[in-house]
Amino acid sequence: MICVDVLIVGGGIAGASLGARLSGAQNVLIIEAEDLCGRHATGRSAAFWQASLGGDTPERQLSLASKPMFDADWPGSDTPLLRARGAVHLTAPGIGEYEELGDLAGEYRPVHLGRDQIDRLIPGLRQQWTGAWYEASCADIEVAAFHNACLRAVRRQGGDVRTDTSFLGARHNGDRWQVDTSNGPIDAKLLVNAAGAWGDEIAKHAGVRPLGLEPLRRTVVQLRVGRTGLKDVPFVTDSHDSFYFKGEGDNSVWVCPLDETRMEPCDAAAEELDVATAIDRFERAVDWPVEAVERKWAGLRTFAPDRGMKFGFDSESPAFFWCVGQGGMGIQTAPAASLLCAKLINGDELPAELAGIDPADFAPRSVRV
Ligand SMILES: Cc1cc2nc3c(=O)[nH]c(=O)nc-3n(C[C@H](O)[C@H](O)[C@H](O)COP(=O)(O)OP(=O)(O)OC[C@H]3O[C@@H](n4cnc5c(N)ncnc54)[C@H](O)[C@@H]3O)c2cc1C
Repeated sequence: MICVDVLIVGGGIAGASLGARLSGAQNVLIIEAEDLCGRHATGRSAAFWQASLGGDTPERQLSLASKPMFDADWPGSDTPLLRARGAVHLTAPGIGEYEELGDLAGEYRPVHLGRDQIDRLIPGLRQQWTGAWYEASCADIEVAAFHNACLRAVRRQGGDVRTDTSFLGARHNGDRWQVDTSNGPIDAKLLVNAAGAWGDEIAKHAGVRPLGLEPLRRTVVQLRVGRTGLKDVPFVTDSHDSFYFKGEGDNSVWVCPLDETRMEPCDAAAEELDVATAIDRFERAVDWPVEAVERKWAGLRTFAPDRGMKFGFDSESPAFFWCVGQGGMGIQTAPAASLLCAKLINGDELPAELAGIDPADFAPRSVRV
């Protein structure tokens, strides 16, 4: 029987980044049900890092702590993991300011743009927006490179990643877990739940009370438009929370209608209504003629009931560690979140890189008010 210190269920960015932090010091095995580790949320993201995302919450501290780790290409990547893009938060009379910007300071402080400055960044923007807040620090994340670097680090440090291996159930005998998988039994000291939308399913099958996780479907559409020179168009969003888009290729954009549809854990697919909504909101924003839908996809962003990320040992089942509820920020927070989780698992003090972060904010069974 395979015998490990830490068994991580789920090979998405949550499991892979935590595996990269833990392996070496601990004997780590990641099991992934699919034939590839990035099939679900991790392979379907819009791939950006943005300081303001999620507002003034403990997750923002994780985003800010992650930025220098990305800049240092943690955990060892051949290519840079961030590419500068910038974000434009459009404002208009009567629809207020963009509250999520909060009190971002220093290099993350947004600057206000007048209409003439916006026109230089987004030629063809329709007239209803009179101003914008600009976040220069917003960047694209090279998600595949980052995810692969994490998986490589796990293996390089002596850990293992097994795809096509589904977690089926587990019993704790007071000392260790006896785990059933589709590829045979595993004996583990610690069970880590990094199964994204399936997080509550894993808990139930390990005899642990679920958290009430909610997977919400979100759609992205790649449109070919009758305009060129779009590759570096910033991330553009309105302060109504109704759309975002960003340049993809010379004449293509990614557009998201910011949909949130409650789903059971599944292989989510884009629905026609969400695709049509994305196109409609995009056409109301810019005068760029839509020529074709080149690609469309959807993924599940999974939230705890209070929308906080949940990292830590279960207070009712101490050999069970939660790493779930990353919602729409699981990539951009992963470098710091994985460090936080690894320190909690190892029982170490938090390092200077995580200054200001309070693990209690992420305690799985506490509810934020
Ligand atoms: C459309 C969209 C846009 C997004 N854009 C961004 C963005 O721009 N920036 C950002 O930071 N975040 C973004 N996100 C959020 C981000 O993608 C997620 O927070 C993150 O990928 C979650 O990672 P994960 O590893 O928890 O989940 P997943 O990647 O879903 O991984 C969980 C894994 O667990 C596996 N699993 C499930 N059950 C079992 C089992 N029984 N046995 C073994 N394995 C199992 C699954 O197969 C899956 O691979 C976006 C998400 C979506 C859907």
